[in-house]
Amino acid sequence: MRSPILGYLDTVIEETAHISAGDVAGYIPELAAADPDRVAIALCTVNGTVYSSGDVDHRFSIQSMSKPFAYALAIEDHGLGAVLDNVGVEPSGEAFNELSLDPETGKPRNPMINAGAIATHALLKSDEESSVERMLKLFSQLTGRQIDIEEAVAASELGAGDRNLGLAHLLRAAGALAQEPGPAVEGYIRQCAASVTVRDLALMAATLANAGVQPETGEQVLRRQTTRQVLSVMASCGMYDAAGDWLSTVGIPAKSGVAGGIIGVLPGQIGVAVFSPRLDPHGNSARGIEMMKRLSEDLGLHLMDTGRPARSSLRETRTVIVEGQPATIYVLQGDLVLSSIESLVHEIIEHPPQTDLIIFDMSRVDEVHAVARRTSSDMATKLVEEGHQIILIDPDETVTDFQDSQGRPVERWSPHRLEQATEGPER
Ligand code: GLN
Repeated sequence: MRSPILGYLDTVIEETAHISAGDVAGYIPELAAADPDRVAIALCTVNGTVYSSGDVDHRFSIQSMSKPFAYALAIEDHGLGAVLDNVGVEPSGEAFNELSLDPETGKPRNPMINAGAIATHALLKSDEESSVERMLKLFSQLTGRQIDIEEAVAASELGAGDRNLGLAHLLRAAGALAQEPGPAVEGYIRQCAASVTVRDLALMAATLANAGVQPETGEQVLRRQTTRQVLSVMASCGMYDAAGDWLSTVGIPAKSGVAGGIIGVLPGQIGVAVFSPRLDPHGNSARGIEMMKRLSEDLGLHLMDTGRPARSSLRETRTVIVEGQPATIYVLQGDLVLSSIESLVHEIIEHPPQTDLIIFDMSRVDEVHAVARRTSSDMATKLVEEGHQIILIDPDETVTDFQDSQGRPVERWSPHRLEQATEGPER
């Protein structure tokens, strides 16, 4: 059976076929020769399932969609603080090829515009391997296949690279470029000429969606904190001077490239990629934007569209006899985040437990956010102070730092021991 999701992607392509506005990038001769009617779309879930439609095997240069990944590698190399010392995170509100330097600090405004991307590339470590080889290795880890450079595109852009070279000289003069302008621009341009398909891009985006873990191989390619930073900057600066319009209409972190690609990331869910070479005046794919708008609308991707509020973490409260003693059991579930743990706190405050013994059953809990850990730990401390005894059922050890007010670890039982010790419900 063909997946309805594939049928849906076909529809998006069909229904945007009339969009012929815009022009292919003219300033790079090799891109100007692209077939403007090529079109492709791909989705990859955090479980690693890829859906694609259109010219799915067509290869094109990654261009500025490489920038988030170069930024990620620079953060992995030097730590976030050191990278922030060199490149800012403020949207420039200007075109991608403007020299947007912060007037106060002299740093490029952000790593998504060319000036910031050239400065970022120049930060990459290059000992045994060159910075470009390292970028290709990263792309290969992210896509699960060997990624190479489209040499004709690299040569063509290098031959027409005066503007980027000019930016690099100005950066160097402002003390904001760690390398000589020539090699920095060449490295950056080669990074931009990496040859990819929409499937590759969807996997790359899905790795960002999946906290840095490549969904097909399971490899932790980037650290979680790194992906958080990259996605934040994509959200505020990824679509250049159209970033505000993008965030309000499509509503997901994204990055475009002048060859016609756009990637988008819905954190925790999916990576998407679209391709169509004609560009709008901002240098973003015109049909690509329309395809992304539809995906966002139809698949409910908009980050600010809260949909269903977080579930309560309190599944049920029971009173039972445990080892001959009455006990209140709170059965918790799901991910414990602020809003879900609040429901537990609220219940305990509104209906204080009537038994000395209190059991928190965490067997159904997946993840505990730091705020939930702090809040529940504070609450446990208060309950102990009020004379309660607390037992934790936490077979997966989702919480490891629960202590009473004297700093003693809370008693832990296995689910089996609780079952053996429980005499049956008493309401
Ligand atoms: N390599 C291109 C340039 O520097 C990338 C620009 C883009 O994709 N927006 O002009």
